[in-house]
Amino acid sequence: MRSLTTITGSTWGTCFAWARRIYTAVVRPTMTYAAPVWYATTSTGKGKKWMQRELAKIQNEGLRRVLGAYRATSIPVLENEAQVPPIELVLDKTVLDHQRRQQGTTGQQTVENFCRRIRNNLQRRQRQRPNTLERPNHQPGQGENTWRTLQEKWKQKWESYRRTHVDGPPAAADLKAKEILKMRSQLPRRDTTMATLVRSECIGLRAFLHKRRVPGFDNPACDCGGGRQTAKHTIMFCTKWDRAALFEAAGSQDYRKMVSTARGIRAITRWMISCGILEQFNLYRYQ
Ligand SMILES: [Zn+2]
Repeated sequence: MRSLTTITGSTWGTCFAWARRIYTAVVRPTMTYAAPVWYATTSTGKGKKWMQRELAKIQNEGLRRVLGAYRATSIPVLENEAQVPPIELVLDKTVLDHQRRQQGTTGQQTVENFCRRIRNNLQRRQRQRPNTLERPNHQPGQGENTWRTLQEKWKQKWESYRRTHVDGPPAAADLKAKEILKMRSQLPRRDTTMATLVRSECIGLRAFLHKRRVPGFDNPACDCGGGRQTAKHTIMFCTKWDRAALFEAAGSQDYRKMVSTARGIRAITRWMISCGILEQFNLYRYQ
């Protein structure tokens, strides 16, 4: 995780594709190392929930680094924008894959026989008490594709998030994984960050700062008098900015299309940075 922090700032450092690869190839495997032992054998739901929560904290911090997102960005959005599944689903998959590899092997048989004997002994001694040695709640089915199972569960979670965020930011819209990765893969670091801020609407403009109760932002309205100062307002409607070059570069004036295609998002991030709309990017203006 420290390596990710060292090489990735919000406006400098490794591009999205590399930062994502470092997270999925280095940070996450370290977190899930030997999960079939410590995660699968945790018998109580409480212990599992605690582990999931602690690991999710680390993953969320990692994804914020990969995307350049603010803390206020919701977790399903982080996961979807980075195309990194929720950590508890990754843990389940790791355990299932391990169980499948072990199924039918002599070692597995020995362990199972041993566990059965302990379980029987315990049950004999504590007839009135509930069984304290739980079996894993999910056994891999014959021919089950654990990657597909993970994807399906993730999709269900994502859809339930979207149902409660119908008027959400562009990042809450439905976009195929391939399209998200394609859209982001071409962007340099500063544009990755800007793309995240625009797509999540967690961005240093008045509407967001007011909502987060940042001192000095009592009013969400833009100076131009045209309504709340959101990313969409700034990009599409604000009279303070000239956007002929933006629309030309984007090849479209349809906001939904602009924020969800590689060409559109690139045009937006370049335009936002060159206009100096957010102070944190001003060192990096395109000339
Ligand atoms: Zn305005």
